[in-house]
Amino acid sequence: MSYEAIIGLEIHAQLSTQTKAWCFCEINTTAYENTKTCPVCTAQPGTLPFLNTKAVDYAIRAGLALNCEINLLSKFDRKNYFYPDLPKGYQITQFERPIAINGSLSILDDEGHEKKVGIQRIQMEEDTGKSMHMGDSSLINLNRSGTPLIEIVGEPDIRSAKEASGYFKKIQSILVYLDICHGNMQEGNLRCDVNLSLRKKGAKEFGTRTEVKNLNSFRSVERAIAYEWERQASLLDNGQKVQQQTLLFDVESGKTRVLRTKSDADDYRYFPEPDLMPLVITQERVVKIKEELPELPDDKIRRFVTDYSLPLYDAEVLSSSLSLANYFEECLTFFDGEPKKISNWVMVELLKLINEYNADISKSPVPAKELASLVNFVQKGEISGKIGKDVLVKMYDEKKTASEVINELGVKQISDTDSIEKIVREIVDSNPGEVEKYLNGKDRVFGFFVGQVMKQTKGQANPQIVSETLKKILSEKNE
Ligand SMILES: [Zn+2]
Repeated sequence: MSYEAIIGLEIHAQLSTQTKAWCFCEINTTAYENTKTCPVCTAQPGTLPFLNTKAVDYAIRAGLALNCEINLLSKFDRKNYFYPDLPKGYQITQFERPIAINGSLSILDDEGHEKKVGIQRIQMEEDTGKSMHMGDSSLINLNRSGTPLIEIVGEPDIRSAKEASGYFKKIQSILVYLDICHGNMQEGNLRCDVNLSLRKKGAKEFGTRTEVKNLNSFRSVERAIAYEWERQASLLDNGQKVQQQTLLFDVESGKTRVLRTKSDADDYRYFPEPDLMPLVITQERVVKIKEELPELPDDKIRRFVTDYSLPLYDAEVLSSSLSLANYFEECLTFFDGEPKKISNWVMVELLKLINEYNADISKSPVPAKELASLVNFVQKGEISGKIGKDVLVKMYDEKKTASEVINELGVKQISDTDSIEKIVREIVDSNPGEVEKYLNGKDRVFGFFVGQVMKQTKGQANPQIVSETLKKILSEKNE
């Protein structure tokens, strides 16, 4: 394609505080409609907002983790617009002076090289209520009204759909690592707006951009970008102009549709929020929060590579979610072999089951201790790797321990050399004809003997020991 896409993401993240941004109502998305509300978050006349300091700490945490400067003085503003689920008639946000600015995040580009995406700003704001449309009528649930949000505004440094979803994934993972957002997109904890414009490759000036609102999955972000890219390119190819529009992406059809056409920039009549004091943060508070930051994904990847000698790929997969990384490390506490062995079992066998059942590793029916115990059995040669996989499936399905399943299936490998030697000897002695063939150079007969031993031991004999013992006994016959 002869166009280059200029893409910027704005990510809205609900902060996982106990209570709302300006009142003491509990944040509870499953509560009965309109029961987690008060005069403040339902915008009764005469009420005043009261800032949740925990939400401020969380926003600072995000700012620091995304390499931002923290503004020690920031301000709240009113963004005025009418919508039924916004009873105040304005949203409290930060316009002129947000809490954090000038950050960056490193991601991998399409060639797998590290690249930096600028973070223009992080602003604190609030969520709206929720409208529910039923037949001819609409109902409003204000339980969500006033939930603290941060909006992370990225610079338009992204050039492909894959970079965009990679950036979004990394932000999600960081917010969950920081323990400031549940990061569950189905539940609306994270939403993303995509700004996209095209320009001829090598051109300096930007084209007209469109904004696709409220994408709530990595896949939707990729699909919306692919569709918009195509749509804008065909307009430009036909000598038409791209209109500056706000769009919605329809997951069913895979197309965008127009929400509104902007004649000019939206006029929200921003002005300073008179009911909230400017937000003053001390340097000490920032330093303290910085000291308490947990290990972030990039640091964890480096540590996994150096401390556990894992390949970079394994380290990246395992660190992609905090619960997966924790699970892996918990396994290691019950295991004394090579960490790579655990990594293989977690990444390949366990994740396959988790994905098949569309489950979550944090609720894995196989606890870390039991997976480690299974890998121990394999490592000691008590069961084969192949049987181990079947054992794991049964452990997963029936929520049983490794040794329970192994005993039940009677699959414990026979590694005791004496008993294997006894069986091998019997078989060799009772098949003199085959021994003769073998000694005359028919190597294939070796397989016949292995097969007989396996048949007699119901496949439980350790294949390596069988093979070694057979060689020994057959060579004795040659003497
Ligand atoms: Zn309230």
